[in-house]
Amino acid sequence: MDLLPKVAIQGEEGSFSQEACIKYWGESVIIIPKMSSDDVIEAVEGGETDQGLLPIENSLIGSISTTYDLLLESQLQIVGEVITPISHCLLAIKKFPVKEIKKIYSHPVALSQCSTFLESLKDCEIIPIYDTAGSALKISKDKEPKSAAIASKIAAKIYNLEILAERLEDYPNNQTRFIIIAKKEDKAHDKASKTSIVFTTLHQPGALYKVLKVFNDYGINLTKLESRPHKAETWRSYFYLDFDGHRRDTNVKEALDELKEQTNFLKILGSYPVWMGAKKAAYEHQAVDEDKSHHPLFSIERKGKGTIISLSSKTRGEIKIGGGDFTIIAGPCSVEGRKQLFKTANLIKESGVKILRGGAFKPRTSPYSFQGLEEEGLKLLKEAKETYSLYIISEVVSPADVELVARYVDILQVGARNMQNFTLLKEIGQSKKPVLLKRGMSATIKEFLLSAEYILSQGNEQIILCERGIRTFEPTTRNTLDLSAVPILKQKTHLPVFVDPSHGTGNRDLILPMSKAALVAGADGVIVEVHFQPDSAMSDGIQSLDSSMYRSFIKEVSWLVDRLKE
Ligand code: PEP
Ligand code: MN
Repeated sequence: MDLLPKVAIQGEEGSFSQEACIKYWGESVIIIPKMSSDDVIEAVEGGETDQGLLPIENSLIGSISTTYDLLLESQLQIVGEVITPISHCLLAIKKFPVKEIKKIYSHPVALSQCSTFLESLKDCEIIPIYDTAGSALKISKDKEPKSAAIASKIAAKIYNLEILAERLEDYPNNQTRFIIIAKKEDKAHDKASKTSIVFTTLHQPGALYKVLKVFNDYGINLTKLESRPHKAETWRSYFYLDFDGHRRDTNVKEALDELKEQTNFLKILGSYPVWMGAKKAAYEHQAVDEDKSHHPLFSIERKGKGTIISLSSKTRGEIKIGGGDFTIIAGPCSVEGRKQLFKTANLIKESGVKILRGGAFKPRTSPYSFQGLEEEGLKLLKEAKETYSLYIISEVVSPADVELVARYVDILQVGARNMQNFTLLKEIGQSKKPVLLKRGMSATIKEFLLSAEYILSQGNEQIILCERGIRTFEPTTRNTLDLSAVPILKQKTHLPVFVDPSHGTGNRDLILPMSKAALVAGADGVIVEVHFQPDSAMSDGIQSLDSSMYRSFIKEVSWLVDRLKE
């Protein structure tokens, strides 16, 4: 007996069905190519293979009707599904200009997915044949000049053909869903299951409505409804329905029992696990599901506990951001030079604060404003870090600089103006460094969280969200500091939440009251601008605390932190 599953597919080696098989089973599968879908069914029914794989629907052309019709007649059960992207190439024995092409062979489904490309050709005969990979095989065997096949990249490799053109499909997001069929139903009862049925309705008004109402009554979500003509009775239809849930779930069982009353004919085609890739797509369409993998990566439901970002070094000790501590980050808006940075760093060190901020790459509104010292600034920050035994944070404004900035700093900063610089977010997602992500000045909370999702989706979970004020009609403050964002974010996400009252208000007198409010609202920390001589600052002096204001700020905030612990 073979240990590996034997699967019949429609098509030669190199077909999209083969790709789908490998996606579903990995390389541990024996694939038996068959000429037609009928042959696939026969192979499984006759016991030649354990299972079969057939395409059932395509995102561009819709349902594959032959598969639906075969399911009706066969006793086989659907035991699984798999979705795979489809991209078509034009293959020939030798390279030649596409406009000289005389004949194109492929599967009719593939041809209809490439209609725009085919319509652009002149004097070219389009010949439908049984399979995409079969068309590649034909071209390689017959060696017809000026003829081509439409098939996969894998087929080009297998049949040693040249690729004349790629991505011929009408839309780039071309995907096909395949079903896996077997003699016996799949006993494994996956939590995220789907069931497929086929039925005919009673011949009376409201018949289909009554069937659909049963699903509504049992709270069952329908995912697909398809009708096919009844071969014997003209103008009668078979309805094919997919819905969430397994035939052994109590509500599904009861709904199916009730459905028998509302139908002339009812057949369960199978209950099977929902394809995981499809689940991911469902999240993008805001589907709600109890399965945790449907929740976004930023969500508290997904992780179940708060993220703690820890920085540690022998000389600097350990700090934990999130998890109940209130962390203060302080420093100048920009790194202006050694004297300015070191004097401020000294003040920060003396106050017991452990993280020094300072912009080296400055995203300024005007191109004529001071743009930062760039790498020179990073070098100074690093020196201050060593001299005063501090951790450092600095902003990165371009994807190309992520690697450079990450080499110097302990925390990367993404500024408000870059919150939706998705290329930057993706690059930062690939870095191992913690990141403080500021809310864009016109970003909603949802957009803010989705920007964090960009970073999370690349594998970096060490994100601090920072509310820094949004643009409103109110001109008295530089921005309107949206402190309600703090408890809202705390309800929605496991990520630590900071507040920046300096940029949030643009007014140094408001930094202390807003920091206290942030603390009481549940923030995990604040980031504030401090300058030993704010009046001479090259940026944001007006919102920077001077030395004495900073000292009393620390005293008062620490006092409140202690009171809240009591
Ligand atoms: C900063 O913190 O230096 C800064 C530029 O802030 P924001 O991106 O919030 O404007
Ligand atoms: Mn600033």
